[in-house]
Formats: sequence, C-alpha cells, structure tokens
Amino acid sequence: MDALDAPGIAVLPARPVAAVLPARAVAAGAAGAEPGGPTAAGPRVPTDEPAPLAALRILADAVAAGHRDPFDPAVPLILAAGPLAGSGAPGTARVAAIGLSPLSGTVGETRAEGPFGAALRAAGASLLVLTGRAARPSILLLHNGSAELRDAAELADAGTVAATDALRSRYGARAGIAVIGPAGWRRARAATILTDRYFPLPRLGFGAILGDRNLAAIVCLPGPPAPAPGAVAPAQYPATPAPVAPAQDPATPASEPATLAPGAVTPAQDPAAAAPGGAAPVAADPAALAAIAARYRAEQPANPLTAWQHEPPGFGVWPYGAEPGYGAHRNFADTATAAGDGLAPDRFLARYRQAAPCPDCPTDCLKVFTPPAGPPVALHQEAVAALGPNLGVEDAGTVLAAVAACLDAGLDPVSVGGTLGCLYEAAERGRLPAGWPPCGFGTDPGPFVAAAARGADEFAAALRGGAARLAARLGVPDAAMTVRGVELPPFDPRIQPGLALAYAAAPTGPRYDAVEHDLDFDPGHGAPHCWPQLRELGLTAPEPAHRLDAARADRTAVLLALWSALDAYGICPYASTPTRPLSLALIGDLVAAGTGYRPDTAALLELGAERLRRQHWINAALGVAEPDRLPYRMHAEPVAAGAHAGAVLDPDRFAAAVARLRTRLGLA
Ligand code: SF4
Repeated sequence: MDALDAPGIAVLPARPVAAVLPARAVAAGAAGAEPGGPTAAGPRVPTDEPAPLAALRILADAVAAGHRDPFDPAVPLILAAGPLAGSGAPGTARVAAIGLSPLSGTVGETRAEGPFGAALRAAGASLLVLTGRAARPSILLLHNGSAELRDAAELADAGTVAATDALRSRYGARAGIAVIGPAGWRRARAATILTDRYFPLPRLGFGAILGDRNLAAIVCLPGPPAPAPGAVAPAQYPATPAPVAPAQDPATPASEPATLAPGAVTPAQDPAAAAPGGAAPVAADPAALAAIAARYRAEQPANPLTAWQHEPPGFGVWPYGAEPGYGAHRNFADTATAAGDGLAPDRFLARYRQAAPCPDCPTDCLKVFTPPAGPPVALHQEAVAALGPNLGVEDAGTVLAAVAACLDAGLDPVSVGGTLGCLYEAAERGRLPAGWPPCGFGTDPGPFVAAAARGADEFAAALRGGAARLAARLGVPDAAMTVRGVELPPFDPRIQPGLALAYAAAPTGPRYDAVEHDLDFDPGHGAPHCWPQLRELGLTAPEPAHRLDAARADRTAVLLALWSALDAYGICPYASTPTRPLSLALIGDLVAAGTGYRPDTAALLELGAERLRRQHWINAALGVAEPDRLPYRMHAEPVAAGAHAGAVLDPDRFAAAVARLRTRLGLA
C-alpha cells in the first residue's frame, strides 16, 4: 500500500515488477525466436500493469512480509478486472480472484465470466484488495471508487440464489453481485464465490476466505453514466431502476466504518481506464473496439468452435460422443467406456431454458438449464463431466440437479466431483469407516452435496476438505486425482501430454483452460483452421497429440505463456487464439483499442511468462514443492480402448519434460 487518501481507499500506482520480485530471464517464443531464451534486458512489462498482474505483486508483498496462511486476515484476497472489462468488446467479460488458496495452500487465481468484471470497473475500481475481518456478517458495497460495509445478518448461511435475488431486488439490475453460500460460511476448501447468479469464481476455495472474513457478498454499484466522447452514450444503458446509493439505503443502516481493518478494503482505481466518477470505463479507441466487435460477430458462425459454443445445448455437454479416455470416467479408472445415452445432448436440450450471456460477447457460451430439482443452473465446460461420467452417473437430470445444488451451496462442481470420485472409489475398495453412508459409482451425488454444504458430522467435514485430504483420511492416497491438492479437471491428461504438463507446471494448480488442448493440433483429431495461428507462434502444425518429448515441453511453454497473457488482460480463451476468432493480431488490436498500448506476439508471451513467474515466486516463498508427476494412474494405467488406446504418460519422460518446461518459462 503506498498511500491512503481516504480511510480504506488507496490508489495503487503501477510499479515495475522488479521493485518487488527478483528480475528473471524472460521467455519469448515469437516466430523465429528461441522459446525461453534469456534476455539481457530483463522483463519487458508495461509499467501500467493490467490489474490481474498487479494483484500478484500485492499478494507477493504480503507473503514476503511473512503472511502465509490463506486464512490469515493479512493475506489479501483480491478481485481484479482486466483493462478491457466493460469496454464493449467480445471476449473481455472476465474478473479474476487472486489470493492464497485454502484448497492447495499455494498461490491461487481463478476467473469468472459474466458481467461482474465490468461492474467492478463501473463502480470505480479495477482492483479490490480485501484484508482484515468484519465483526459480523456483512456485505461490502463498492461505489464511485469507495467502499463500505453493511450488516447482512439475514444473508449468513443463505443459498447463493436467495442471496443474489435479495441483493438484486435491493440494489437493482445494474449492480454487480458476488455472494458466497453455506459452504463458504463453513470454510469448505472447495467453496466458490458466485457472481451475478450464474458465473462462479471456481475451484481453489476463495468462498471460504470470504466466509472466514464475515463477508456474505460484494456489491458493485455503477456510477452515473459519464462516458468519454465516443464511448457508450447514457441512453444506451438498459433502462433499469436506479441503484440505491449506499448512504440512502434504508434497509441496511451502516454498521461499521468503511474498512474491515485499517487499510483493509482497498479499491484501486484504474486511472488509465476508469471514467471520472467511477462510471463507464473509457477505451482508448472506441471506434476500433466497435470494429473488432463487428468482425468477431461476423467470424463467429464460421468458426467451428465458437459456433459449437453458441448453439444450445452448448459446450458443457461434450462428454457424450467423446472417445474413451478423453474425459474422466469413474475417477479416471475406467478408460474403456464412453458416456451413455442418458447424457446425450437431447436430454439436456429438453431442459434448456436460455443463455446466460456475457456482456458484449455474442458467443453466449453458458447455457441455463432447468434441473428436476433445485434452481436453474448455467453449465460451464467441466461440471457435467465431473459430476456425471466421473461418478458413473449417466442421467442428465441427476447431473443437472447436482450441479445446481453445488452452485447454490457455493461449492465447486469439479472439486466436488473429484472428492466424490475419491469417496466412491474408496467405498468400492471397502475403505469407508463404519457409519459412513454406503455409496459407489452410480450413486446420486445430490445427498452428498447437501452434506458437504451444511452437514455437521465428521463425514460432512471430510467432504469439505477435498479429495486429497479425504484420501489421506481413508488411507487411499492413490485415489486422490489431484495436483497441488487441487482436483484434476475432467479432461484426461494421458491422451494430451501438453495438457498434462500444464496440469503439473501451472503454479495455481491444474486447469483445463491454461493451454489449448493438444488434440486440436493433431493431424487426425484436430482443427486445421487453427494451424496458421500455431505457425505464427513459431510452432509446428499439425503435431501428433500423443508425443511426449522435449519439443512438447517447448511448445507447451509457449502455449502456457500465451494464455497466461490472456489471463493478465482478462481476455477470454473461449474467444481467442489459436482456435477462436480473436487471433494474435486481433488481440493486439483489442489491447491497443482498450488501453493505447499494443503488445506484439513477443510482448504477449513475455507478459504471460512474467505472470507465471510471479505466481511461482509466491509458491517458492511459501516453500511449496513443485510436482513433477501427476497421480499415479496417469503414469501406470494406459487408456484401455478406443482411438487413444495405449496412451499413458511415461513417468521419467514426463518429469524431464516438466523440468524443461519450467526452465523455459523461468519457473525453476
Ligand atoms: S467467449 Fe463465451 S465465456 Fe468468453 S466472454 Fe464470450 S460468451 Fe463469455
């Protein structure tokens, strides 16, 4: 914190990263360059850093000061919106949460799509830094760049849907609303923060941090529409009820000063991008943004992936039709079986309701479905696989109800799927303690989600700890399909070694959206339309997916750095290169139109690598061991059938490739 200009409100000036973190060699992988080659000049990062990158500097400061427990109130939990959020461009509807993860104990960063990022900036901040602990259940109101707390006893232990509805009714349709559910209040290590009803900040347990800090919700109230010349005109805003200004809210009298603790709530204004008064974010070149949006809209239908994402039932139902070994089946133990007809797209279409749109993006990836029980739910890409085939559950209605129960409880469906997969496997191996409920693959996960959300017994507490802790408790560590304590995404890494390397090397734990998947570049299974983008990155295309060697490590380093740069700017990978319409050139145009700074490909890769190094530095300061293996199953049990039969990750070659990848990115 450099200066407090009002209680709890500070402007965080951009500083060079070297002021906090040691300068390291920079990975660069533009065409013709040697990926990972050290540069004499050190990092070339813009001094006006994107907020998600600056957040890592703030977190590193706290860790360097000795604050290393995720639940330490001095460890910041940071919400960060990229410089393009709310700009009107497609693929920019993202917000990041950054802190220490209660699930892994390491650096954590996770992202939500939807309108919350734009709402954060419209409330006058691109960074919200939370430290301290409120004295009682509260909501944090953010408006015009300032923050205050209000009592919210009525929201303590409420479901996320009820809490969102109550706050929406109180503050209006334009408010950005992030809430936790009962899992967050019980410090479940897979507790999420749900933004704007349908868009979770998934994995990693940040909902438990908010619960521990007595924060039921964060509400962003937009300022008066005051766009810069040429930006969105006031008349173009939706005609919704005016939000209740914090000082005029009769329902919730102010209970405390604006901070959780001295200097605790820190909305950092974005001087480069926020309009005066905390209203509509200002773009450097709104006309250029409009042109990019028009081009994206024109190209989306012809792109096979964005077209697939756009059409109901959307990208969440991919397990049906996938080859054996592509997705997780029965805790990754069954690689001979494909998803059954109960998960066919028409079963989901019968329950399709609408899209849950991201502002300004025509792709409409998230689709809302009506489950047979529970509130309507929007499907992202992993939930059906994690709670369906991964648990031996093959009925669309049962899976949708379980996803809805997870999200209403503020639980991450993927972590829950991984934890229950471990439980079911332990049960089938006869390792459950006496008195625990009987179960096995095929058991409806719904009652276990309810137990994890609100249960008071030892079984419920064990579920709230996640798969790795559960497996240790049951004496079946080989049943924990985890890396860094985080449950694997439901994309089987055996058949995609680049994805496998990313699972092991990503400092924030395994993510399926850290790199574009190997199969997209495979000569037999791939998407030829994206190969020219690969070649622009200096990579060969097509490239057989199953190969695990030094070249795989090198190309994965480039792909990791590329999508890390997208994360730094808050650009959505489901809209972006190498497979979607936002090409490398368009991303440069997009950043330039939003910020006035145009990164070329080399600069993008440097920025992405720098972000990964900052995460790595935090882990190193925490003393976190760097994994060089995945769960044993990935190295010992080849895929049993189908097009990928025989695929397995040789453990020694894998460890060598992880080491090479880390060296390439400066993570060693
Ligand atoms: S590509 Fe999909 S997830 Fe990404 S911003 Fe657009 S609609 Fe949202």
